[in-house]
Amino acid sequence: MSLPEFKLLRPRSVEEAIGFLVKHGNIRVLAGGTDLIPSMRQKLFEPEYVLDIRHISELREIHPQAGHGVEIGPLTTLNAIEHSEFLRRHYPVLTEAAATVASPVLRNMGTIGGNICLDTRCLWYNQSLTWRKACGFCIKKDGDLCHVAPGGTKCWAVFSGDTPPALLCLNAEIELASPSGVRRMALRDFYTGAGDSYRKLQPNELLTRIFLSDSSADLRGIYRKLRIRGSIDYPLAGVAVALKRSDGQVSDARVAITAVNPAPTLITGVAGALEGRAVDESAAEAIGEMAAKTAKPLTTSALTPEYRREMIRVLTKRAVLAAAAN
Ligand SMILES: Cc1cc2nc3c(=O)[nH]c(=O)nc-3n(C[C@H](O)[C@H](O)[C@H](O)COP(=O)(O)OP(=O)(O)OC[C@H]3O[C@@H](n4cnc5c(N)ncnc54)[C@H](O)[C@@H]3O)c2cc1C
Repeated sequence: MSLPEFKLLRPRSVEEAIGFLVKHGNIRVLAGGTDLIPSMRQKLFEPEYVLDIRHISELREIHPQAGHGVEIGPLTTLNAIEHSEFLRRHYPVLTEAAATVASPVLRNMGTIGGNICLDTRCLWYNQSLTWRKACGFCIKKDGDLCHVAPGGTKCWAVFSGDTPPALLCLNAEIELASPSGVRRMALRDFYTGAGDSYRKLQPNELLTRIFLSDSSADLRGIYRKLRIRGSIDYPLAGVAVALKRSDGQVSDARVAITAVNPAPTLITGVAGALEGRAVDESAAEAIGEMAAKTAKPLTTSALTPEYRREMIRVLTKRAVLAAAAN
């Protein structure tokens, strides 16, 4: 599968990058390219311009802020996240999740910004042009029917990034830059819940920073995922747990899931269910039930929806027990 023709633009600053986004309509941002390039080969995107932002050095660093958490540049590789001593000590759920993305080679190229902005995935979408054409295309690209929920008008392609559920547990915020300045939003507000237009990123916007606050530091963190090949594959169900204990009892708890809905999703009610008690099998089981009820997997992957929902329940229970035992 060959790459479609495109013109490569290489800005050296955020300002220059935004200038290119404003000037050129049919343009795509390239960070590590580990998702964009395969998608271009499959003709899912055929941009006239590719904006290679890898040379904007200001977007690459991890900056701990004394007493105010940490700022992470979106071009920070997943490998750098995984091996950051600071993040491992203070935000372990994020380093755990980053360490499970794809394979070491892809983590060396792939960035956290690309992971946050990652396109949604579906068995009927991530295929070659010939394959998709033979099936009559789908709502997400070139068609008007959904093979997953026939008769429906909604796209159910699944968000399958590993770090966003960890970031949701850490109440992460992001900064988006555009010609009219910067706006900051909670990461949980960035995703729409629709499989096609899945993120609130305007065509002239660039993700420029990720913020983790001090109040989310030092929670115990666990990430668990189900995938076909343990060495490389996207999650087919993923669970992040961040939990704080004092005197043997839970004082804060957050759980988020991925790869079973069109957006990574925080489970509501977890803190209320666990706070002030010690975690035992039945408490962990109850959180697993809450996560399984929130998961809405459909036939977007090779594994059945029933199995993926059950694995959300099992992985959540195990992750909660592991976080409490740490
Ligand atoms: C074989 C294989 C296995 C994989 N397994 C996993 C896995 O297990 N888990 C997982 O999470 N991912 C997986 N991936 C996907 C990918 O490697 C990661 O998600 C990676 O983090 C993507 O980052 P990137 O920098 O390469 O993104 P790119 O491919 O460069 O970009 C991805 C998307 O984000 C946009 N984008 C990137 N940066 C910005 C920015 N700063 N502002 C605005 N938009 C931006 C791009 O335009 C594009 O739409 C896999 C990929 C492959 C090929």
